[in-house]
Amino acid sequence: MKPFTELLQPHILALAPYSSARDEYTGSEGVFLDANENPLGSVGSSQNYNRYPDPYQHAIKTELARIKGVNPNQIFLGNGSDEAIDLLIRAFCKPSHDQILIMPPTYGMYEVSANINNVGIVRVPLTADYQIDVAAVQAAITPQTKILFICSPNNPTGNALNPQHIQTLLDTFEGIVILDEAYIDFCPETSWLSKLDSYPNLVIIQTFSKAWGLAGLRVGMAFAQAGPIAVLNKIKPPYNISLVTQQIVLESLLHESEKDAMVAEILHQRVSLAAALETFSFVQKIHVSDANFLLVQMLNAKQIFDYLIDNQVIVRNRANVILCSDCLRISVGTQAENEVLLQKLAMWE
Ligand code: PMP
Repeated sequence: MKPFTELLQPHILALAPYSSARDEYTGSEGVFLDANENPLGSVGSSQNYNRYPDPYQHAIKTELARIKGVNPNQIFLGNGSDEAIDLLIRAFCKPSHDQILIMPPTYGMYEVSANINNVGIVRVPLTADYQIDVAAVQAAITPQTKILFICSPNNPTGNALNPQHIQTLLDTFEGIVILDEAYIDFCPETSWLSKLDSYPNLVIIQTFSKAWGLAGLRVGMAFAQAGPIAVLNKIKPPYNISLVTQQIVLESLLHESEKDAMVAEILHQRVSLAAALETFSFVQKIHVSDANFLLVQMLNAKQIFDYLIDNQVIVRNRANVILCSDCLRISVGTQAENEVLLQKLAMWE
C-alpha cells in the first residue's frame, strides 16, 4: 500500500494550514481586536454571534472522540459530509488526469463532486443482488484510480455491503478507500470505525444528517488516521462549521440516548411499513434495508410517483437508475406519515 503522502496531489503536500486570527491565543476571556469583528453584538439578536467560531471545533471533537472511540486528531468535520467528499477528491485527484471509482447505483454526490473538479469516473456496477463485484472492481482499477468509494449501507439500495468484499478491497487497493457510512446508526454493528488503526488509507464518512436529525445544520464527519485528517484541515475553508451549529451539535452529543431511541423507533416503523407495503398487489419487491429507507420495486412506479406527488406525498423516483428499474425509494416517516402514504397507496390499488 502506498503511503497517503504519495497519493496526495503534490501542491497540497506543500501547503501550510490556514492560520486563523486567534491561533496564538487559547483562552476564552480577553480583549479581541484581531479579527475585525463587530464588538457591539449581533444585529437583530440578543445572542452573541459576532465572534468567529472555533475553526477546529475542539469541543465537539473531544466529545465525539469519546463516543466513537477514536482520537480527536482522527476526526474532520465538514459542512455536511458532502464537503468532506469534495475535499477528499480535491486532495487526492489531479484534474483531467486521475479518476475515482464508484459502484452504481450509489450516492450521487461522488459523481457530482468528481465532475465539478474535472476528475474522471470509473463505474463498476454492483451485482444484481446489490453487492460488490470484487473481480470487476479490481480489473477496472488503473494507476489513475486514486479513490474508491464504497457506500455501506448503500444509497439507494439500502443494504449493507458484504464485509469480506470490503476487506478484500481494503487489502488490495493501493489508493484511498472512502467508506461512506452515512446510514451507519441504523446498523452500527457493520461499522469499520474500530478498524481505522489498521488501514492508513481508509477514510470513513458519517453524518449528523440522518439518525441525529440535524440535516438542516449541515455537519458531516470524516474519520481517518491523523495524517489524512491533517490534510483535510489544511484545505478546508477556515470557519466551515458555524458557531450556532457547533453549539447545537455539542448539545446533541450530550443526548446520545435520544438518538438511540429515535433509531429504534425508525427501525420499528421500517418493519411495519415494509409489512404493509407487501400487501399491495402492485408491489413486486421490497429490498433488504439496513438504513432508514426502503427501495421498493412496483408496477407502474413512475405513475405511482406522480400520483403520490399529486397527493402531497413525496418519495424518490429511482425508476430510471441502473439496477433499480421500477423502484421508488421511500424514507421511513413517523407512524402518522407512513399511514398517509399507505392510505394513498390503498386508494391507488
Ligand atoms: N452519503 C450518503 C450515502 C448519503 O445518502 C448522504 C445524504 N443523502 C450523504 C452522504 C450526505 O450527507 P450530508 O452532506 O447531509 O452529511
